[in-house]
Amino acid sequence: MDMHLVRYGDEGYNVKLLQYALKRAGMDLGSIDGIFGRRTLRALQQFQRDRGLLSDGVAGKLTWAALFPYITGYTLHRLVQGDSYYLLSRRYGIPVPLIAAANPTLEEGNLQVGESVTVPLNLPVVTGEMPFSSLLTGLMAQGLLRRYPFIQSYSIGSSVMGRPLTALQIGEGPKQVGYNAAHHGNEWITTPVLLRFVEEFARAYVLGEDVAGLPAKELFAAATVHVVPLVNPDGVDLVTGAIATGDSYFEQARALSAYYPGIPFPEGWKANIQGVDLNLQYPAGWDIARRIKYAAGFTRPGPRDFVGLSPLSAPESRAMARWTEDRDFALTLAYHTQGETIYWRYEDYEVQNARQIGATFAGLSGYALEDTPYASGHAGYKDWYIQTYLRPGYTIEAGRGENPLPLSDFESIYAANLPILAQGLTLAP
Ligand SMILES: [Zn+2]
Repeated sequence: MDMHLVRYGDEGYNVKLLQYALKRAGMDLGSIDGIFGRRTLRALQQFQRDRGLLSDGVAGKLTWAALFPYITGYTLHRLVQGDSYYLLSRRYGIPVPLIAAANPTLEEGNLQVGESVTVPLNLPVVTGEMPFSSLLTGLMAQGLLRRYPFIQSYSIGSSVMGRPLTALQIGEGPKQVGYNAAHHGNEWITTPVLLRFVEEFARAYVLGEDVAGLPAKELFAAATVHVVPLVNPDGVDLVTGAIATGDSYFEQARALSAYYPGIPFPEGWKANIQGVDLNLQYPAGWDIARRIKYAAGFTRPGPRDFVGLSPLSAPESRAMARWTEDRDFALTLAYHTQGETIYWRYEDYEVQNARQIGATFAGLSGYALEDTPYASGHAGYKDWYIQTYLRPGYTIEAGRGENPLPLSDFESIYAANLPILAQGLTLAP
């Protein structure tokens, strides 16, 4: 993990990440506020003492390495004489099957002294306690892949700033289903919704449990779900402070934002880092979207609603289109916030069972099933997917309030959407 030195007096995203890790390591810290004050200093020094590290109150390389397991949710244990999964299970407070699942190349009955075992910690990998970033998403994905090696990941491209666009894949069924989140920077709370789903699905699969009332083993056999949890990493990093004031990308975005003084910066930022709205980039009524947005004053790059110079001109949208074409999904969900609404149609395209499946999703979540308003009804991912494939594709506006929705809304948003995410695998045609 390539982390900067973090010390007393610092502020910002790296301090939040430090506080998050210390908290998960059991340190008494108070709230994750991104301000490295006395309380954070005491917690860090205590952590360093507990681990036999130099207790200088500065988070450097060794300290971050010791904190790493609390962010990713796993640690490596070198086997000594007498070790067994049972003993590791007792010591780390984690069920034996989860240890076995994390080590598919080891034989439980034939463990060798000196071998390294991946041990899941008794913590979920994915939480809603911390504002998201491309870094945190990558670390959590790494944790999920180590704990559940039957999850696969692959690259679908990279962002303007070169951040990875990554898909996770779980299941082995013939039906291919595609879920994505965070086309929009200030809607990053949708990223942990998808990551948490992947984690709960994987865990339930290993333990033989249900996900939202459905046996995980049956879901696993019925479908393969592909998840892009973070379509717009640069935009998310801008909104959550992972790109800091003074960074040239931050300043460039701020300059673009200055042309739209009514939109708060960076909280109102939805676009990619070049000011292109990634969900107005798809070749489905793009000219209409352009006309509507230009008439509304969105005539140049900015925080939202600028359609770009041509369809799929942004690398993030282009990667999403290619990913979708390659995988031939039977059903797609595109996660946004907010409004507690499910949009199910594009123009007058007739998609078999689309309304019915949408109504089921609405019933499961308590969200409203609605037609897309004309002014926002073009050039979106869902619009393009429906037009291209004539298969059920949905935009889900999760949660309610003003974007970015607060972290405190995460658990209720997840609870409302978990049944949709699980049933999506069975309802896909
Ligand atoms: Zn959105």
